[in-house]
Amino acid sequence: MLKIIDKIKKDYVFEGLEVTDKETLFKELSARIASKVSQPADIIFETFTKRENEYTTNISNGVAIPHGRIKGYGSTDIFVAFLTNTINYDSDSDEHTPVKLVFAILSDEDNPKDYLLNLSQLFFLVNQKDILDKIVHSNTYSELAEALEGVKAMDEKYETEKQIKFLIELERADIQIRAYELYSSTHSKQKSDAVLEEYRKYKETLSEKINEEVLENYTRIKENKGNALSKIENYACSACNVAIPKMIVNEVRRQNQIIPCFHCGRILFSTD
Ligand SMILES: [Zn+2]
Repeated sequence: MLKIIDKIKKDYVFEGLEVTDKETLFKELSARIASKVSQPADIIFETFTKRENEYTTNISNGVAIPHGRIKGYGSTDIFVAFLTNTINYDSDSDEHTPVKLVFAILSDEDNPKDYLLNLSQLFFLVNQKDILDKIVHSNTYSELAEALEGVKAMDEKYETEKQIKFLIELERADIQIRAYELYSSTHSKQKSDAVLEEYRKYKETLSEKINEEVLENYTRIKENKGNALSKIENYACSACNVAIPKMIVNEVRRQNQIIPCFHCGRILFSTD
């Protein structure tokens, strides 16, 4: 069960934020949070900005997760903000980085575990496409609550279909880590332990959701081949290019079992 859902309080959900960029978002968000908790808005603003300066908290798909820790904060809280308009979150980036929905986390300086756990569960939640499709179109607390109710039911069963999704997500986490390392080197920034710690925790959270045998198999292939998954493209394994019989492709699409490529051994998946 994703405990995260139960942690989103109605009082901490802010509707209709009219902002134009990241800075005005952080100002408005900090002011709204300050009206609910016993922290001044400028401290909250500084906390979000400090973490943001290490690496963007835009996790793509229209969602950003600004977060940070404050000395003496005392708890870990999740806040949600619905923006009236999509903003270009990382305006200094070459890419367009639209954000419409914001989950923010504030936590105590002295409680990094709780903070990382909440963060990684949120990462997990918004990286599930079927979940995201529902929540990203929410504009109010009740719409969000309704969308998240569906998630609760979904998270109780771990059938093969989900195992494959979790594996894909695990590979994506590695890609995110590489992207961060590249960013640190091209922007001559020191790699931040805080950011790497967040990714490590996220991978741990994902691994816990994967069946032990499936995870062992995945890890073994990954050690041998560098990446353990291969997408089927035009009836071929995209990693080794061998043609995959139509019958097998259909089986992979059905997602009832984990099927390796008979040639390279990588786990096949399809996005069709
Ligand atoms: Zn192959």
